[in-house]
Amino acid sequence: MNAFSLRDGQLHVEALPLTEIAAQYGTPCYVYSRRAITEAWREFAQACAGRQVLICYALKANSNLAIIDLLAREQAGFDIVSAGELRRVIAAGGSASRIVFSGVGKSTQELREALLAGVRCFNVESGAELERLNRVAGEVGRRAPVSLRVNPDVDAGTHPYISTGLRENKFGISHDEALETYRRAASLPNLEVVGIDCHIGSQITSLAPFTAALDKVLELVDRLHEQGISLHHIDLGGGLGIRYDDEEPPSRAALIHAVFERLDAHPRAAQYEALFEFGRSIVGNAGALITRVEYLKQNGERHFAIVDAGMNDLMRPALYEAWHAVQPVTPRAGPPTQFDIVGPVCESGDWLARNRTLCLAEGDLLAVMSAGAYGMAMSSNYNTRPRPPEVLVDGSRAHLIRERETIESLFALERRLPD
Ligand SMILES: *Cc1c(COP(=O)(O)O)cnc(C)c1O
Repeated sequence: MNAFSLRDGQLHVEALPLTEIAAQYGTPCYVYSRRAITEAWREFAQACAGRQVLICYALKANSNLAIIDLLAREQAGFDIVSAGELRRVIAAGGSASRIVFSGVGKSTQELREALLAGVRCFNVESGAELERLNRVAGEVGRRAPVSLRVNPDVDAGTHPYISTGLRENKFGISHDEALETYRRAASLPNLEVVGIDCHIGSQITSLAPFTAALDKVLELVDRLHEQGISLHHIDLGGGLGIRYDDEEPPSRAALIHAVFERLDAHPRAAQYEALFEFGRSIVGNAGALITRVEYLKQNGERHFAIVDAGMNDLMRPALYEAWHAVQPVTPRAGPPTQFDIVGPVCESGDWLARNRTLCLAEGDLLAVMSAGAYGMAMSSNYNTRPRPPEVLVDGSRAHLIRERETIESLFALERRLPD
């Protein structure tokens, strides 16, 4: 299902024309389809039906409270990477008992807060974190459920900045050191070893890296079993890619089936609960950034469409040279021109799309597609630009789920010098 479609010459999200959203909320503006998010989620959930599974939503892809709320109502678990994300889940009505806490640099205060909240599991990324967690758990009188994030040394075949499962990445504990670290974890009084975890990267578009990582994880699970360390769950992380351009990632169901085909062949399969941590795949294609053309200009041979959204609103092109489709909201007939779609920010890296053949005029609305994941979540106030509002559309109804920031709020925490 594509939530965005052209009807009567107008780009719609579900049943609502994007022109109406722009008229009501202004531009730039993030817009999401409730149905697209729910359907993506249910595709995972249905592929897992009847099994012992916790599918977590990785909040960092898009952490708006309404989206957390929507997924909490679907019985999602949540993968968090900070105390801030923990508080978002609680504020949105999610349950700490369905939260896994990932990340390489959890602070003492974050560990304490998550212990007191009663999170489901800490995905521990180093021996040093293990020792600290044991100490903090002792201080607060709780036993910390832990899983070690192992680095299976597989190449996810994705952009280097979003590849996390190689030996040289900062993430996880190397395969070679994992056994030793597990023995240490099992010996610490305030820890309870409950699982194993890996996450090899993001925007992965083939099954092979997932199954290769699972094989490596299962091999470790067996060696731990031989040593008397038995686990309750196996967490395979997230990372399933989406279609931005012409990628052909496996379907959500195909990934789940491939994982269970392998898991089911394991002699103790029935003993393990499977966990997943998907972000991009759930929200990526469900969102777009609506922006208006401010100016058209030509420098030498190059044509630029200067729009009112910039790299501060959608950072992925500047950060990863990521490709996003750009669709006119009301396509016009006429001779096309090759445009670079650029923002107003004072950086040459401030572009949203390059070499797009479009017919444009000043004032036209454009939709930057597939912006539901790592869009608003990575936005900033660079150039003292207020962040855009977020609107969640449900059929023909629009819900404002985050207001546009005011300029005053951007420096409200700042102080002038004393006289
Ligand atoms: C970012 C992240 C995810 C989600 O990745 P997606 O590519 O958005 O599915 C899952 N687990 C961990 C540990 C992460 O850091």
